Amino acid sequence: MRNLINILDLTTKEIDELINTASDIIDSPELYANSCRSKILGTLFFEPSTRTRLSFASAMMGLGGGVLGFSQAASSSVAKGETVADTIRMVSSYSDIIVMRHPKEGAPIVASNVSSVPVINAGDGGHFHPTQTLTDLLTIKKKKGRFENLTVGVCGDLKYGRTVHSLISAMARYKGVKFVLIAPDELKLPDYVKTEFLCGIDYIETASLEEAIPSLDILYMTRIQAERFDSPEEYERLKDTYILNAEKLKSAKSDLSILHPLPRVNEIDTDVDDDPRAHYFDQATYGRYIRMALILMLLKTKGVVDRRTHGTEDEHLSCQNPHCISFGDSERGIKRLFDDGKCIYCDQMAKKV
Ligand code: ASP
Ligand code: ASP
Repeated sequence: MRNLINILDLTTKEIDELINTASDIIDSPELYANSCRSKILGTLFFEPSTRTRLSFASAMMGLGGGVLGFSQAASSSVAKGETVADTIRMVSSYSDIIVMRHPKEGAPIVASNVSSVPVINAGDGGHFHPTQTLTDLLTIKKKKGRFENLTVGVCGDLKYGRTVHSLISAMARYKGVKFVLIAPDELKLPDYVKTEFLCGIDYIETASLEEAIPSLDILYMTRIQAERFDSPEEYERLKDTYILNAEKLKSAKSDLSILHPLPRVNEIDTDVDDDPRAHYFDQATYGRYIRMALILMLLKTKGVVDRRTHGTEDEHLSCQNPHCISFGDSERGIKRLFDDGKCIYCDQMAKKV
């Protein structure tokens, strides 16, 4: 049994295999129509989702399997105070593979440590979103033909944008990749992402989308995410910082690829949608196929026990991240583990107490 919590759980060779399988499914879907007959996917969405949940359900159905689950915490026993661990223990006895989204960072680690079936992280708070990254990688491969030697601009909410954190960690593995990090001061990429993934990698930080555009091969736009802000005033102040439109694209390369994990609010004007460089709707379509490939890969892996229990308990350390699953007492019974001074659930430095 194997899980996908973080995109780096996959080797570059495995990513290539997933991309090849997804391409094969796109070409010959009928060959895969019965691959998961009698298998059940549990979809546990403690936080709302349209695309990710529907594309997973559609992926499992395309493989001949069934789907059960819930699409908001309010319709599960979590509303009655059930822990993530207890919910997963129960659902893993009703399904063969689980995909979950949770507002707390590190919740999928708690889940994978008690689950008897593979767990896929479909987004944990502002932390990671590895299956979006697989979708992004398949799109980049299809549109650019390579991962190497690309200048990748990521724009918008780099602080809370989990899709950005996962994409940077994945793309940083390839040779000659440069990043242009485009964000206002308040929404810059967190230090833990920089130290963990950008050490020795060429990157610049800027607040200007206009200045960055001409150098880019890929422009990954993101939404400023109202639901992650503690202060509504700060969201109001920042929400219109970047708006990509046809005018701004005049200075872009002719083979630029514009991506967006969606949903879009107003950060890409609809006048961009018909530009041949706008690839975000294709990207959403690819999401289904790469998720089919992932389900097949995880169900096939036997004899692996994938538990994340590295790190040690330390009464002198405390995780201060209010968005972490180990913070507070909602997840009763959680073991607070630290590795090299960092909380193993959210990767943030712990505080000495
Ligand atoms: N949260 C977004 C939505 O509702 C993206 C997703 O589904 O992954 O569409
Ligand atoms: N769909 C992406 C996510 O779920 C991006 C977004 O919601 O803005 O993280």
